[in-house]
Amino acid sequence: MNATNERVILSDVSGIARKSGTDQHGNRWVEFEVDYQAEQEPGECCLCGAELESGWVCLDGGDECCEKHVENIDAEATEPLEEDYTTTDHIHWYQYGKLALTTAEHNDPHTSADNAYAMVTAHMDVAKFWPNAWFVSDHGNTHLIQLN
Ligand SMILES: [Zn+2]
Repeated sequence: MNATNERVILSDVSGIARKSGTDQHGNRWVEFEVDYQAEQEPGECCLCGAELESGWVCLDGGDECCEKHVENIDAEATEPLEEDYTTTDHIHWYQYGKLALTTAEHNDPHTSADNAYAMVTAHMDVAKFWPNAWFVSDHGNTHLIQLN
């Protein structure tokens, strides 16, 4: 083996760590980018079939997926979705445009129960679906509710 003093001298080294996450089934996903210099083939979205230069790949099974089909629930949501719970009074909770739940005090329909948030969480637990919950003010401003 030839000893060499040659070096590749790098300055301004930078990079962004690949994001990774765990899906609702416990599978690990990591962001990928196709490296054409390494003669990698483009990926294919397992949901829409689109050819991918970048996206997410499942480390448990190898499925690939478009960026747009991956929802990062840790990213701050900014407005309610159809499936989210919304309330204007912490008593009436709407989902899909319909009244889904009321959380009034047992003896007073005009007062929100002390455990209203726990009741909302229990309602989600029954449905096994945990979307966001929002308070909507008189002015229509939305505030994400921390249920627990
Ligand atoms: Zn897709």
